[in-house]
Amino acid sequence: MKTTSLLILLSFSVVGFCQTDQRIYDVIDAVSTERIEADVSKLAGFGTRHTLSDTVSQTRGIGAARRWIKAEFEKTSAACNSCLEVSYQRNLVKKGDNDRIFKDVEIVNVLAVKRGTKYPNRYILMSGDIDSRVSDANDSTSDSPGANDNASGMAGTLEAARVLSKYDFENSIIFVGLSGEEQGLYGGKGLAAHAKEEGWEIIGILNNDMIGNINGVDGIVSNTDFRIFSEPVPPTETEEERKARRFYGGEVDGISRQLARYIHKTTQTYMPEMNPMMIYRLDRFGRGGHHRPFNDAGFAGIRIMEAHENYTQQHQDIRLEDGIDYGDKLEHVNFDYAKKLTAVNAINLASIAWAPPAPKEVKIGGIVEPSAKLQWSKVDGAAGYKIYWRDTTSPTWDHSHYVGNITEFTLDGIVIDNFFFGVSAVGENGFESVVVFPNGIMR
Ligand SMILES: [Zn+2]
Repeated sequence: MKTTSLLILLSFSVVGFCQTDQRIYDVIDAVSTERIEADVSKLAGFGTRHTLSDTVSQTRGIGAARRWIKAEFEKTSAACNSCLEVSYQRNLVKKGDNDRIFKDVEIVNVLAVKRGTKYPNRYILMSGDIDSRVSDANDSTSDSPGANDNASGMAGTLEAARVLSKYDFENSIIFVGLSGEEQGLYGGKGLAAHAKEEGWEIIGILNNDMIGNINGVDGIVSNTDFRIFSEPVPPTETEEERKARRFYGGEVDGISRQLARYIHKTTQTYMPEMNPMMIYRLDRFGRGGHHRPFNDAGFAGIRIMEAHENYTQQHQDIRLEDGIDYGDKLEHVNFDYAKKLTAVNAINLASIAWAPPAPKEVKIGGIVEPSAKLQWSKVDGAAGYKIYWRDTTSPTWDHSHYVGNITEFTLDGIVIDNFFFGVSAVGENGFESVVVFPNGIMR
């Protein structure tokens, strides 16, 4: 083959196969360890951020903390020509709603919306938590710095907002500090309900809860391992959908799992030094996080978290006991690591916010035939589509085939029984939607 024709071939293959975008590397570089350290320190400095703590003081308690978070978002907005819509989202919870609500309390979330230029009502969210706790979940006065749980996630969210405020996106991004996590996931519940009322189209939420500890109770020290928790299938699926799964598959292919795979892939592409671990469960064993109320409402949502936890530094009264330094204190947080996980969030928010919507409907056919067929609904703004498949035992979408602006394709010689399949939409700029697992059958 002559060099010229080879070049032509190569340039043809660029659209849809282009794997990287310089802006994503710029986003990674722009995330600042120093700013994250300053923000975690500031948040830990409010004494306690317990959900039922003081709201009047300017220096101590959750009121002071949320006003500061709002002011930080506003500062970011002022620096980008008012590019963020900053607001409180309030939820009144009555005394006795559960054991941890010992008086009426207003659960206040702080939101910053970077409005999408093309799909203003489609949202990808990044969250951290405002509140903290000590050994007794109802102790609202003792010192509770919550430096890792979860000032780290909150600081990451503030920093991602600063970095991404420099760009425009087709989809909207919401950066949010959620409150009431430790009292029963109240902030997430309130915001998910608000989203439903307002008819927000939610692509998913990346919930960050503890992104700053590298010294594990298991003895492992790692500043590259991190976990992406995702539930297998939505809890909102119908009985009919559950029955269909038995015959058509999908046990490990729910919407949150696809979001987890997306994050895994983006991280491996742009931050290959990291070790993302997809954990095939909603959350840690029997424990909770703020992505769950979004899952409960039928939205995709995952938890991003350190891989090696230290339980002597979570939900503990600050004390020295048997030579162990208990408490969630500033000195236990590794800010470089929190920076890396913040970058993981930022590049995924950007990639999704720059991508076209995923196809709404994807049908699959090819029963008792030598080739699998896929058919999908057209996406406005998509330049093409990517068909993915993988071995049934593989966690990741290992094979793909880019097709142009068409809505049906036959994968010659790929037998439907031996793989799982999915389709994503690809934009002119090369960014891709989350993969959609088939939700219909072609006969
Ligand atoms: Zn916690």
